[in-house]
Amino acid sequence: MCAPSQKRPWHAISVTEVIAAQDSGLNGLSTAESERRLIAFGQNLLLQPKRRGALSRFLAQFNNLLIYVLLGAALVTAALGHWIDAQVILAVVLINAAIGFVQEGKAERALEAIRSMLAPAASVIRSGARITIPAKDLVPGDVVLIEAGDRVPADLRLFDLQGLKVDESVLTGESVPVAKDTEAVAETATLGDRLSMAFSGTLVTYGQARGVVVATAGHTEIGRISGMLTEVTTLQTPLLSQMAVFAKWLTAGILTLAAMVLAFGLLVRDYGFSEIFMAVVGLSVAAIPEGLPAILTITLAIGVQGMARRKAIVRRLPAIETLGSVSVICSDKTGTLTRNEMTVASIATERRIFDVSGVGYAPQGRFSLEGADIDPQAYPLLREVCLAGLLCNDAELREADGRWVIDGDPTEGALVVAAAKTGSDLGFERRTWPRRDAIPFDSQHRFMASLHHDHEGHVRIVVKGAPERLLEMCSWQRNGDEDGALDQRYWSETAEKIAARGQRVLAVAAKPGRDSQIDLKFGDVEDGLTFLGLFGLIDPPREEAIAAVANCRAAGIAVKMITGDHAGTAVAVARQLGLENADAVLTGAELDAISDENLGRRVYETAVFARTSPAHKLRLVEALQSEGGVVAMTGDGVNDAPALKRADVGIAMGLNGSEAAKEAAEMVLADDNFATIADAVSEGRRVYDNLKKAILFILPTNGAEACVLIGAILLGSTLPITAVQILWVNMVTAVTLALALAFEPAEANIMERPPRPAKEAILSPFLLWRTVFVSLLFTGAIFSEFIFAQSQGASVEQARGIAVNTLVVLEIFYLFSVRYLKGPSITWRGVIGTPAVLIAVGVVIALQVLFTYLPFMQLLFGVRSLDLLQGLQIIAIGVAVLLVLELEKWGYRAVMNAVQRR
Ligand code: ADP
Ligand code: MG
Repeated sequence: MCAPSQKRPWHAISVTEVIAAQDSGLNGLSTAESERRLIAFGQNLLLQPKRRGALSRFLAQFNNLLIYVLLGAALVTAALGHWIDAQVILAVVLINAAIGFVQEGKAERALEAIRSMLAPAASVIRSGARITIPAKDLVPGDVVLIEAGDRVPADLRLFDLQGLKVDESVLTGESVPVAKDTEAVAETATLGDRLSMAFSGTLVTYGQARGVVVATAGHTEIGRISGMLTEVTTLQTPLLSQMAVFAKWLTAGILTLAAMVLAFGLLVRDYGFSEIFMAVVGLSVAAIPEGLPAILTITLAIGVQGMARRKAIVRRLPAIETLGSVSVICSDKTGTLTRNEMTVASIATERRIFDVSGVGYAPQGRFSLEGADIDPQAYPLLREVCLAGLLCNDAELREADGRWVIDGDPTEGALVVAAAKTGSDLGFERRTWPRRDAIPFDSQHRFMASLHHDHEGHVRIVVKGAPERLLEMCSWQRNGDEDGALDQRYWSETAEKIAARGQRVLAVAAKPGRDSQIDLKFGDVEDGLTFLGLFGLIDPPREEAIAAVANCRAAGIAVKMITGDHAGTAVAVARQLGLENADAVLTGAELDAISDENLGRRVYETAVFARTSPAHKLRLVEALQSEGGVVAMTGDGVNDAPALKRADVGIAMGLNGSEAAKEAAEMVLADDNFATIADAVSEGRRVYDNLKKAILFILPTNGAEACVLIGAILLGSTLPITAVQILWVNMVTAVTLALALAFEPAEANIMERPPRPAKEAILSPFLLWRTVFVSLLFTGAIFSEFIFAQSQGASVEQARGIAVNTLVVLEIFYLFSVRYLKGPSITWRGVIGTPAVLIAVGVVIALQVLFTYLPFMQLLFGVRSLDLLQGLQIIAIGVAVLLVLELEKWGYRAVMNAVQRR
């Protein structure tokens, strides 16, 4: 938006003018004002990609080969004068479309809800306080903070900028990040030259800055060129497309078969045309697994929802399948395997190592030397180290509802707490040495530096970072009042010692700045620094991560820890976590020295990767994949994006992760917790099992129906089941029994078996065998019941009623069997089922009773009531079939065991 009086564009006027024009201030807007503006300007949202309307989604249900076949059949049936049959077919087509419509809607809504969990946030200053709000609530005049990894949430006029670089390729096509500035530029500058602006939708790759919002939503540059950047959710995964292709071939095959059967029936068996035609329609309906795609989609959608409940948010649907085959998980240490609740536990100066007590962020704790409490005020060096840690710092400590919390990086928060424990007045110290400029921390260069002026004109540069890194930059060290020569050995050994306790080590150093120096460059801190001391920070492992690591081990999944920390720290934590080969460690420098050929093997033998930078992650993923691993990799920073993209399952942190990492990832952890990854893997395995179960349930049903019809025609006998009856059975069971499988809980051994081979086809030999076996078993059972009933003097209608009910009862028993793919089903847990199974069975039985006894239904479907004995007979054959199925599983297990033992 532009204020009416605003003639010159935002990039061409000074920040002061922009802030004035936006009627804002450095303290941001007040909450009341921002609410007013939100109503006036509307939400900061780009136009969403158009969702399909309900009508077009409903109509799409009819765009399906089977439906065409059915509609054609209805026409011909009507033309032949079978009015009732034609109407039944049409009704079934409509009901089927309605069911598909509802289920697909459910699946789409589930995914939609999950997308909204990933809505971007923005860091703003409101009434002087820094808060995080949903980016859609930004209004013009808001003061926004952006840093590396963020997607710029609105068009901003920049100020207070530290090394900001922005990738503007979405807007300009230029992929090299642009270094930004705060000075106004020429009015005529093109988009790419407006260095004083950061545009909505572009990606911050480096540094940080503040900016005043000058445009939101459709008024932003990106909003003007296109309203549709967001990806459209698709319900597609490799398995679904594999099944879609399979379904096409199957349909084509079945139609050919149907034509052959038609010819056979007419020429060889001299059935009447109308009779054989209806039989062939029945055959097509029977053999095409029309319900399958919908069931698979809904199973996936339910899986995605289940994962979201367990704090794993799937961004790309295929990940859910890949998760089930993950064989290696590479996890960040800090915050994922550990709690990221940092506390300074030791501080080393030139001669001494102090211990610091206290837990969490409460600024209460004591300092001690070799067990004896000391007064920190009596040790000026200790105070200087703590002061340096306080100044070179972006975190804030505050008390909220009686609890101490920090805003910012926990590592830095711990340093603030340590400074507070010395009894210093933090506010006073920070006001005495206000900051003029800074080089932000980055896991690539592993240090942070800041420039401070006091009010007497002294200039100081303070640096904190990894000890090895700082030692390279230091020439001196602080000894009491004097600076002395740097004792590299002492500091390295002390750092080792602290690391061996499992503490994260951080060094601080300082040097005087040049007079009136106002900006800080890398060159300013490269050398000549004075080493002040070391901090050791504890960060306990997460309890649940320890359990999850053990679970992964049982499930045949290797866990690797990746960290920027010191090798000693990393190994100590790896031991506490119970990682396999916890002592096998490689540092980033060692990794660089290993050739690509040897890397894969070495990486597999190693559990801990220390002092790594994000570039190493990419190399690790590639090495693991080259050895056939299916790799899940975590990441949070903007530099992690390439590794996340390359990994089979890229996992970003939801709490502390950057927008860039989330966008590159397949999955986002809402709680940044390693245990959630293990949960997601188990969930992925469960979903894949359930997809298999759904296929294994539906295919034999269709197979049996088709065999019954073909068998009857070949023999020239009466059809045991008619076309409309088959339509009925498929419709009824698809929405009940098959759907119940989508809710199946995990089988007990799900995390005790090795990962599924990535290349395993879903239509495995096992699956094909089972399909054929069960199809034939069902066919036999249905024929026997049908023939037996007729031999007992039943009418054709009654015998058909028996055949249909037999089929449905077999399916009910088979449902119990298929719930355990290879394990026994006749167990307590197996027999009592689940609520979903019981509801489904209850509904099917109710529907079958209506079908069999309601006169109206009897008329529509051509059946007659059954008596008690016939009912019992049907159940008896169901039980018999279940026993045969169990015997088959038992045989299968025995054979597999024998093969394995050999
Ligand atoms: P991790 O992968 O475990 O999160 P990082 O890359 O964040 O590791 O940190 C690596 C090292 O950089 C730490 O061991 C510490 O010495 C140093 N470091 C971490 N955070 C900061 C910070 N905010 N400022 C300065 N140095 C830091
Ligand atoms: Mg970190």
